[in-house]
Amino acid sequence: MPIPQKIRVSTAVNRREHYVGELALSTLPKLSGLLADDASVMQVDLLACKIIGLPALTGVVEGPLKLECSRCNKPYQLGLRHELDLRLVSSEEEEQRLMQDCEPYWVQDDELALRDLLEDELLLALPMLPRCDSCENIVNGIGAGATESAAPKQEPRRENPFAALKKFKL
Ligand SMILES: [Zn+2]
Repeated sequence: MPIPQKIRVSTAVNRREHYVGELALSTLPKLSGLLADDASVMQVDLLACKIIGLPALTGVVEGPLKLECSRCNKPYQLGLRHELDLRLVSSEEEEQRLMQDCEPYWVQDDELALRDLLEDELLLALPMLPRCDSCENIVNGIGAGATESAAPKQEPRRENPFAALKKFKL
């Protein structure tokens, strides 16, 4: 079954609906604004089922994302794989029954906007500080010698001490 816009949770869970399909990044407005390029497509494989008596949505969304490196500002590709294991709760009592390592997802009136949920999950899965491979290596001190001297210096020479401190914490 392709990825519907909305699902009725009780029906989906009772039928153990299985959603397999593509999700074009260009159809996700909140996410596409954060990407260097929204031309690619994510693969979605999700199952609606019941786990310990609670409606659940489990599966994976994966695919290539084009991000802008926060250090050199060049676009680079990230292979993202995000696993979902959500319990669809609609009352505080249900939420309290959750085991600690499960994520609750609140559902109202038995209706779930599946594409919105997937977009939110992808937003959560994005790196806080996107960095291309070469910048990641430089930041981690791998191959610092050759790569660093060849790359144009973009960072200011004198940093304020607080900014420098922040860097060390990363
Ligand atoms: Zn970079």
